[in-house]
Amino acid sequence: AGMVRIDRLLGNLGYGSRREIAALCRGGHVLLDGAPLRAADTKVPLADALATRLRVEGDALDPLPGLALAMHKPLGTTCSHDEAGPLVYDLLPPRWRRRDPPLSSAGRLDKDTSGLLILTDDGALLHRIISPRHQAPKRYRATLAEPLRADAGAILASGTLVLNGEDRPLLPADLRLDGPTEAVVTIVEGRYHQVRRMFAALGNRVLALHRDRVGGYDLPDDLAPGQWRILSGDALAAVL
Ligand code: URA
Repeated sequence: AGMVRIDRLLGNLGYGSRREIAALCRGGHVLLDGAPLRAADTKVPLADALATRLRVEGDALDPLPGLALAMHKPLGTTCSHDEAGPLVYDLLPPRWRRRDPPLSSAGRLDKDTSGLLILTDDGALLHRIISPRHQAPKRYRATLAEPLRADAGAILASGTLVLNGEDRPLLPADLRLDGPTEAVVTIVEGRYHQVRRMFAALGNRVLALHRDRVGGYDLPDDLAPGQWRILSGDALAAVL
């Protein structure tokens, strides 16, 4: 792994301006293996071990760039500043909002949709989850206003359904029913309000929507709404 200046590293992790970080170092608040790093231009190895070797104001270093999270998005939160309401990013430590590269959500869930949201600062990972070319499946549980028409599964599987206001048909989607008004649908695209509009195109209406799987990764049962965890190793590999 390469070396990085401590002020650049901490700056990109959102710890403060160059000047503020220089002051932290001078004040002896940045320790490497227990010894103060008083010069802000000191270079340190950019490797995972840094999280355990480096302490800033008594705490372990924030996760290095290359971070991926699974969040259980609660109802009422938004993925974008364009909408009113609390942001999913508000559920993370405040400093993380100043990270560079920033954390972004891989696709968006509507304000009134709950469930699994992957957040990452890794552009390649983002692309592999979002791009229809990679066909990463996303599974949703939809509660419907009416019993679903009998041929809904065949229509979704056919790749011929066209959403209102569009001309290009949707890619084939998989449908399973857990009850007459409980649909489990798996899609590989992420068009605007896609699932709600799909069921609208089938003459129905979505009353509640929850995403419980992205790629091969299931929303963990013990991740309550509003909670998140860092993905690594097998869990991260399962997303792809
Ligand atoms: N489809 C929707 O309609 N809403 C979402 O949040 C996700 C998929």
